[in-house]
Amino acid sequence: YAKAQNNQYQLYSPELAVLEAEKQLMQSQLALALERQEFQVYYQPQVNLITGRIIGAEALLRWNHPTHGLINPDVFLANAEDPATELAIGRWALETACRQATVWQSAMALPLRLAINVSTHQFQQENLVTTVTNTLQQTGLSADVLVLELTEACAMSAVELTVLKLKELKAIGVQIALDDFGTGFSSLNYLKRFPLDSLKIDKSFIQNMMTDTDDAAIAKMIIAVGQSLQLKVIAEGVETVAQFNFLRQSGCHAMQGSLFSTPLSGTELQELLAADKRF
Ligand code: C2E
Ligand code: CA
Ligand code: CA
Ligand code: CA
Repeated sequence: YAKAQNNQYQLYSPELAVLEAEKQLMQSQLALALERQEFQVYYQPQVNLITGRIIGAEALLRWNHPTHGLINPDVFLANAEDPATELAIGRWALETACRQATVWQSAMALPLRLAINVSTHQFQQENLVTTVTNTLQQTGLSADVLVLELTEACAMSAVELTVLKLKELKAIGVQIALDDFGTGFSSLNYLKRFPLDSLKIDKSFIQNMMTDTDDAAIAKMIIAVGQSLQLKVIAEGVETVAQFNFLRQSGCHAMQGSLFSTPLSGTELQELLAADKRF
């Protein structure tokens, strides 16, 4: 028994300690990484279900770490310990993505939407509206192209503030998507007070949809909620044709996921657009 305990210690604790140490090291490198331009924005196409055409892209941040390679934001951004740096990275991502979108725009003359994730911390900043306005001005991107993705949890954490802030954002002409919808606790009463344009079904519901009838029911319910509130519904994490067919038959508007494309560099997406790629 003692040996088993010892083994367990040997197996788990040092690894956990390494992980913890590595995470802390990463946190301490974030500011330097920004300075050294190690961050990149990738873009995942969003596909209209009826036309099969790319109608937009979600900007997804990556850290091209000198020794670890490409790191996803869940690892370094979700628990960022330096709030000022986290905000600076968010501003950088917004500006970079908007600049990229103007390049697509002038090359294609296509109304391609650019969706970007806004963290709860970013959303709570008093100057968020000013930051967005200034970024649009500096990059020359038209406001109606930009979609800000706000998680359900963020929107619900201070409902009155959310209503005010979303109204301000809508007033400058940007669109709002409610992200990770269904993972939190929205009441329809609040939902109808938010000036939203779209709902995003979280990939956690899509993943097991074909075997888990609860997940399938939730996905259908979200689509029905969207229909009754006249919102577009976008599913994320679509990986199989079966999921695609189910969602299309249920009335979903758009999808993103590895079935269509993983996140791409700005240039790679531009090549798909130039080829008028249909899915
Ligand atoms: P999210 O907003 O829910 O983004 C969707 C995530 O699903 C992305 O993970 C995307 O790469 C992944 N995904 C897309 N299609 C598939 C698929 O078919 N299968 C699977 N298994 N996954 C798929 P990613 O890029 O790792 O981003 C994770 C989260 O980090 C995002 O979740 C978002 O909350 C956050 N994030 C990403 N970029 C930014 C950013 O610039 N600013 C902020 N504040 N948060 C960001
Ligand atoms: Ca998102
Ligand atoms: Ca819910
Ligand atoms: Ca999600």
